[in-house]
Amino acid sequence: MLVCLIITGCSGLHERATVKDHGNQTRNVILIVGDGMGPEQLGLLLSYARQAPDTVIGERRTAFDRIMDEGGVMGISLTYPSGVLVTDSAASGTQLATGKFAGSEMIGADKDGNPVETILEKAIKTGKSTGLVSDTRLTHATPAAFAAHQAHRDMENDIAVDMLNVGPDVMLSGGLRHWIPQETNDKDSAVYQKLEQLTQGAVKIKSKRTDSRNLLEEAREKGYALAFNRAQMDAAQGKLLGLFAYSAMPDGITVTHSQDSPDRTIPTLKEMSAKALQVLTENDKGFFLMIEAGMIDWAAHNNDTGLMLHELLRLNETVDYVLDWASDREDSLVIVTADHTTGGFGISYSANDLPVGRQLPGILFKGREFKPNYNFGNPAVLDKIYSQKMSYYELFRGQFDRLPKDQQTPARLAELVNQYTAFAISEAQAAAILATEENPYYTEGHSSLGDKVVPKMGPTGAFFVYQTDDNRQNLLAREVAADQMVVWNTGSHTATPVLVFAKGSPEAMAPFGNVLHHTQLGRYAIEAVMNQ
Ligand code: MG
Ligand code: ZN
Repeated sequence: MLVCLIITGCSGLHERATVKDHGNQTRNVILIVGDGMGPEQLGLLLSYARQAPDTVIGERRTAFDRIMDEGGVMGISLTYPSGVLVTDSAASGTQLATGKFAGSEMIGADKDGNPVETILEKAIKTGKSTGLVSDTRLTHATPAAFAAHQAHRDMENDIAVDMLNVGPDVMLSGGLRHWIPQETNDKDSAVYQKLEQLTQGAVKIKSKRTDSRNLLEEAREKGYALAFNRAQMDAAQGKLLGLFAYSAMPDGITVTHSQDSPDRTIPTLKEMSAKALQVLTENDKGFFLMIEAGMIDWAAHNNDTGLMLHELLRLNETVDYVLDWASDREDSLVIVTADHTTGGFGISYSANDLPVGRQLPGILFKGREFKPNYNFGNPAVLDKIYSQKMSYYELFRGQFDRLPKDQQTPARLAELVNQYTAFAISEAQAAAILATEENPYYTEGHSSLGDKVVPKMGPTGAFFVYQTDDNRQNLLAREVAADQMVVWNTGSHTATPVLVFAKGSPEAMAPFGNVLHHTQLGRYAIEAVMNQ
């Protein structure tokens, strides 16, 4: 027993010494989080890259293929928080940021609700620069978990104050509404008019604050340059706070279609990441940067397959950019993972549209047709999924709901769906989507999220949608699922472990190629940051 202890102790010490001797080249740590990007989501991206006849992914090679081709490692990681099975983004982000178990919906706290120093705060203490980039809004759960300490993710006004106090050098995202005083809601106020000039019309000006604090002014006093559009971001020098939307930034389909427009004022996730890297590399001591592709999760909550693919492509191009930046830099560790899986998504075979029999040249098929019993899916469906022109959210909230009431009919909904997506629905299907209360498959329940739940006991099992106020998107998904060759099992998160990719010096990336829990992943990332 004593011998064991001594040996274990020795090997522990030896390991430590090894890391110290050889692993100290790591100066920069970049953590990229695909919110809701479980293995199912990555599977869609990889299938689309390799099998879609007209894939937009160059050489059919995703950033994930690249990480592995270029010598990276891959692991798998469980995401559950303290005491429960399934995580939300706040608890998961917190576990990544602190390396400690968190309670559900907490921000930067341990399971008992005490604040815990995050990887970003530790990086600042060691003299490194730090940055947060997200395509949702800055005070949303994932970025918040790295630079705030609050009992609940919904306390976004307090989170904004925390973030400013912690003071990452670069913060780029949406969510202006939590940074401006409540007085801005009066359009005649001086502060509104000043802000209108400052933002040059790029961002809707409305506050969610319930006090008079002008966090933009406070940021300026702390030495931040402010940016509200692409040009301002590009021109900025040094510490930078960029808020490019009232709430969330534009969705992936909108980005795809506006990317090359000269009028575009809002930067993409890739452009924000590039700017962050530019600012952060000015510090010789290195940096910690968290980049979030946050809307993979939102698309998956809505079971919007086409939108989810566009969100994944946005993450993919960002990771590609970061890999280009990091190539030949042994001093930089890039980690790509998700905070959890969303939607219980899958590409699935079915008994619909069965294949017709055909001849095959192989000798086993002499005198016999090749006619599988099921429809295993034509890869061309992936191009049809990509061809979606509008998110389900915009389709309902932005289009359908803005029609005059008497025009909000099943016929009109079917028309919209058939105009903006490649998966047509009939008027009867549209009627079923709109008449959710009358659908006999639906009964009301309650979820742990405090929202109402509508479980559907259909032919493929339970189907949970946690927004009863508007589950039309999920119901549309249900109607087109067979044609899309996909299944969605839920409108919430699942406990399916997520994949972890890492690339850096051999010593720095090695720990990530394992079966992990996100608290471990967080600790390894912290070790890499602290390892001077
Ligand atoms: Mg998030
Ligand atoms: Zn989510």
